[in-house]
Amino acid sequence: MASPYSKLEKWQRMYVNRALNMERIKAIGFDMDHTLVMYNREAFESLAFRETLKKFIEAGYPEELADLEFKPNFLIRGLLVDMERGNLLKVDGHKYVKTAFHGTTPLDKETRHRLYNSESFKAQEFLSVDTFFALSEVQLFVEIVDYMDRNPKKISKTYRDVYGDLRRFIDLSHADGSIKNVVMADPGRFIRKDKYLSTALTRLIDGGKSLFLLTNSGWEYTNRMMSYILDQEHDEFPSWRDYFDVTIVSSGKPGFFTGSQPFLEVMTESGLLKSHSANLLPKRVYQGGNAGLFQKLTKYRGDEILYVGDHIFGDIMQSKGKLNWRTLLVVEELEHELEKLAELKPIFQHIQQKTNEREALDEEIQIIRSKLMSIKRHIQIAGREGDAKKAHHLEKERDKYAAKISGKAPILDQLDNEIKDLLGRKESSLHETWGELMKVGLERSRFAYQVEGFACVYTSRVSNLRFYSPQKRFSSFHDILPHDP
Ligand SMILES: [Mg+2]
Repeated sequence: MASPYSKLEKWQRMYVNRALNMERIKAIGFDMDHTLVMYNREAFESLAFRETLKKFIEAGYPEELADLEFKPNFLIRGLLVDMERGNLLKVDGHKYVKTAFHGTTPLDKETRHRLYNSESFKAQEFLSVDTFFALSEVQLFVEIVDYMDRNPKKISKTYRDVYGDLRRFIDLSHADGSIKNVVMADPGRFIRKDKYLSTALTRLIDGGKSLFLLTNSGWEYTNRMMSYILDQEHDEFPSWRDYFDVTIVSSGKPGFFTGSQPFLEVMTESGLLKSHSANLLPKRVYQGGNAGLFQKLTKYRGDEILYVGDHIFGDIMQSKGKLNWRTLLVVEELEHELEKLAELKPIFQHIQQKTNEREALDEEIQIIRSKLMSIKRHIQIAGREGDAKKAHHLEKERDKYAAKISGKAPILDQLDNEIKDLLGRKESSLHETWGELMKVGLERSRFAYQVEGFACVYTSRVSNLRFYSPQKRFSSFHDILPHDP
């Protein structure tokens, strides 16, 4: 029988790394930014880029920096930033650097190999571009790297020091409201509403799950964004707060999962805080806190909680690793990529066919090559034994096989080029510069390895949950080993 989910578009499906029985899940927590609240990324990132740039100039950096251009979509998540050298890297799961840029210029193959692939590097020395927020930050960094290279005397700092300043200025832009206030004043410009979100959440509530919100954003911003996406979207839940049994703001994840901060109650009208030591009361808003205390007060065990977030490091790694919470990762890029990949199916088949042809031909050449080696050895023996006739015969054989190889070698080269071309076409139709998020050529990317390692389940957006029963048993076919029958 065909799966009832086979009718879903690929981007609407849930993908399973580790079996998850939803029947055993009692509480489902949600991150807010880029999980429940989907941003219009170009508008948001360009705002962050501009506001941070203003801080550079205020701090005495050259005014010409104001001319730097924000390039939407130049970067993808999952890249590594070598702050020391001003380089960007796309890496596979074995830390092999496949694509590298200095600023916005590609590094040539020799430099890339010399710097990164001749010996194993420590990925933790580099900054990992995990969040969407980091994209505008890193884009600004590479633009400044280019500027410094063009104008060697104008900024007398290292790339790494500039990155340090950049971090400070970004934090400042977030703290002083220069980004948030603009977004709150006009959410329609920055936020994409998902009209199915309320249906998905209602379905979970009907299925007996208790929902909670756990976000690092502050109360005022959270309230504004959540109101914008959920207020008046459902008759039974007129306010966004009606969906969530507990709301936790300014949670300080990933510290929330390991720390011991107390919960404070937020007085929602005034925004003032009140100390809190008793149970978490329904429909109230809390600030700070920690996961251990949360579990103690709500009496949920780690494996009865499913946490839904978009940030592998901040949302998923610690909650799963330290507390055994089950995890659902939202990978927004999949929506675009899975649609594209469906269109690219003919190219995939073509790649597969050419790869098979290549393998068969390569095998054939290897066999001839070993025959040739054996003949050469026998020619030497015949020579030593003074058997001229035999040697002559063998030499003829040798020439015949050598000719065969030289006939086939160019076909192999041609196949190699064709495969490389096809892969290039596939990659660039997914992303002009960096290719597919989860792949590096034919290998899995570092990002894909992390998704695999830490997300029990992943999907492109939260509202996809509406397609599945709240008691669904998600099974994994992921544990198949290369030698399994
Ligand atoms: Mg988030």
